[in-house]
Amino acid sequence: MSRGRDKRLCWWGRMRSTLRRIWPQCDIQFNGNSLTATGDVIDLNNPSNSRAKYIGDATIARWKVRQNSLLARQVSDRQQEYILFSIFQEFGILEKPLFWKKTSASINAVHALVRTFAGVEDFARVNAHYMRRKFLLGLANARFSRCCLACFAKNGKRVLDSEWHALFDCPSHAAARGRFTLATKFSRDSNTESTVADLCKIVTYSKHCASRLGELAKFLLNIRMTRRRDHRHLTSNGPNGRVRLLRRLIWDCWRNALSPEH
Ligand SMILES: [Zn+2]
Repeated sequence: MSRGRDKRLCWWGRMRSTLRRIWPQCDIQFNGNSLTATGDVIDLNNPSNSRAKYIGDATIARWKVRQNSLLARQVSDRQQEYILFSIFQEFGILEKPLFWKKTSASINAVHALVRTFAGVEDFARVNAHYMRRKFLLGLANARFSRCCLACFAKNGKRVLDSEWHALFDCPSHAAARGRFTLATKFSRDSNTESTVADLCKIVTYSKHCASRLGELAKFLLNIRMTRRRDHRHLTSNGPNGRVRLLRRLIWDCWRNALSPEH
């Protein structure tokens, strides 16, 4: 068996190659009966410290690969990664994780924070109300499939259902927004409709302070709970449920058919 093949099959050889992928200057080998390490990253007297450092460095290396691959693509607001893509465009390649500070909030709130910025929460800009279409067939129509249902049901406004709309504009979350503003003193300078750039501003404002980040996480958890309740309500059989939405849909289609620019 050749030396190269031997190296690939042996756990020791594989471990050295894996180590050098993250720490190119480092090597570890037997010298007689003793183990020696080159480079200054491995401390043979403290293996758990070296292991923690390896896990940290490997995570950062993977994070940089992810950022570079995302920046090399064109990402639209219909894709989950759009928020991360916009943040990388604004800040450039990040050396640390996006939220590296320990957050003062419950585990559920931190979960909501991470999922929202990863773009995997339930927002119609990505999922187009797919799971709610069986309750209301009109939602499959491209005119309504990405609308904020709460705004549409309340005042017939068709607004893109996005994370930034929920955080800064949607009237359904006015109370939670008020509590967040009071606790963090964060304020948007403009009264115009929000964009994804406002999410970048809120990240800059919160990410260095554990309590602000905690308040943001609680706000996002509150948004998640309110939206779940609203969606349940609007797709139910009650008088203010799907019938109300259906009336809005029909009225909007009829008005659109009559409008001169149609
Ligand atoms: Zn809304």
